[in-house]
Amino acid sequence: MSLMTKADRDAAIREKLQSDVKVYLTCGIHNWTYGSRKPWDFNCPQCSYAAFLGLIMSLPPNRRDEMQDALEEGIHHMVESAERGELQKMDFLKHPEVTVEKA
Ligand SMILES: [Zn+2]
Repeated sequence: MSLMTKADRDAAIREKLQSDVKVYLTCGIHNWTYGSRKPWDFNCPQCSYAAFLGLIMSLPPNRRDEMQDALEEGIHHMVESAERGELQKMDFLKHPEVTVEKA
């Protein structure tokens, strides 16, 4: 089963063709860029922000709400696990600091 339908692909392509602005999502601390083959630092808020924003932005517009809902549900489960004392593999990260630089 494909994750993207033809309509999804068409919507993603149409959106990209309408914009001539290229955006690189990068962690300024680790110089990790979304789309890089190397894994990001899971303990770094900025790496995680770039990774999840890239994930959302790589989806066609009509699928973003669905992904956002899935991520939000996952976060709720993590919070519930933390409240039960069952979350041991990672601590919650503070919000990342976002900067915009023009090339
Ligand atoms: Zn980082």
